[in-house]
Amino acid sequence: MPLLRRGFKTWCENAARGYRRELNLDQFGPLDPRILAAKLGIRVWTPKDVPGVSAAALKQLCKVDPDNWSAVTICVGTKRVIIVNDQHSPERQNNSIMHELSHIILKHRAAQVFVSPKGQMLLSEYDETQEEEADCLSGTLLVPREALLRLLTSGRAHTVVAAHFAVSMDVLKMRINLTGVQKQLGFRRYGGG
Ligand SMILES: [Zn+2]
Repeated sequence: MPLLRRGFKTWCENAARGYRRELNLDQFGPLDPRILAAKLGIRVWTPKDVPGVSAAALKQLCKVDPDNWSAVTICVGTKRVIIVNDQHSPERQNNSIMHELSHIILKHRAAQVFVSPKGQMLLSEYDETQEEEADCLSGTLLVPREALLRLLTSGRAHTVVAAHFAVSMDVLKMRINLTGVQKQLGFRRYGGG
């Protein structure tokens, strides 16, 4: 991940620990993005909750993948609201919400914003580095390295681990790759540990 600055991954792991501590959650357990959003004072809506923005308009506004949009952040006054596509699976929604929260936590400024007819701003276009950072933070918040390592060390199947963190298999695989835990597990096995 050449776009990520030095120390960023460690910062993300610390954030994953910090938010779990603040929310009195198990360090090895899941972090529900809706609970984190509430803690950060950010609402999570579905398209039908949005006054003045139709689902069709949202689709159009999310230029990245208009037929398959996941989530977008809007500004209502000074408040930020995440709108999530509730047609997607709960695991995918978790990922989408955490991704949007990550942009907010990282104080990313959208390169492109759109204004709805009712004057709400929709933030949807971030640059590549910001996307990398949001994906990294989001994945780490959902599946911290230490927790992942502990579960895999205990021999649990990947599907069980994904269910434990309430994430999709895609997110779990991404985390296994990015954290290098598989290598560590291999060494342990070969080392007789
Ligand atoms: Zn993004």
